[in-house]
Amino acid sequence: MTTEQEQQQAEMKCIEDGTVLEPSKTSGEPSMRCPVCSGAWLTDEALHAVEDKSFDPELVKGQLRFGEHPTEHDCPHCGDKMTRFRYRGHGLEIEACPNDVGYWLDHGEDRHIKDALKDRVRGLNRRDGAQRDWQMTKHGGSRSIIDRVKGLFGR
Ligand SMILES: [Zn+2]
Ligand SMILES: [Zn+2]
Repeated sequence: MTTEQEQQQAEMKCIEDGTVLEPSKTSGEPSMRCPVCSGAWLTDEALHAVEDKSFDPELVKGQLRFGEHPTEHDCPHCGDKMTRFRYRGHGLEIEACPNDVGYWLDHGEDRHIKDALKDRVRGLNRRDGAQRDWQMTKHGGSRSIIDRVKGLFGR
């Protein structure tokens, strides 16, 4: 009876196609991967370990979740509805357990995460660049409008 319960708890399913996930590695960190679509579940700990491969842990990574909203997907871990958000304000959107247990990455999104963090490191190295990134994140697309207005006055 106990083993049956344990098996049920251990069996996690793909949020896209319901296939049972298999133990795997994502960017060298333990994950549960879908053999059909190659989507992967990473625990909170594993995601941070992936990030730290591209980002000096001493630096501030900044806010993780922007524009968070609910989805219709059931969390493979707890069954609650997952949320979707823009990863650290970048163009990449990922889904997560609403209870902060883990994250769902579609195929190849771990690479996008590392690329996004490399961009951020470059931004922090150039203070002006970091400031600009922050502004764009905070105000969304408003910067291009300001630039256009400036352009009008400049003529
Ligand atoms: Zn799948
Ligand atoms: Zn969950």
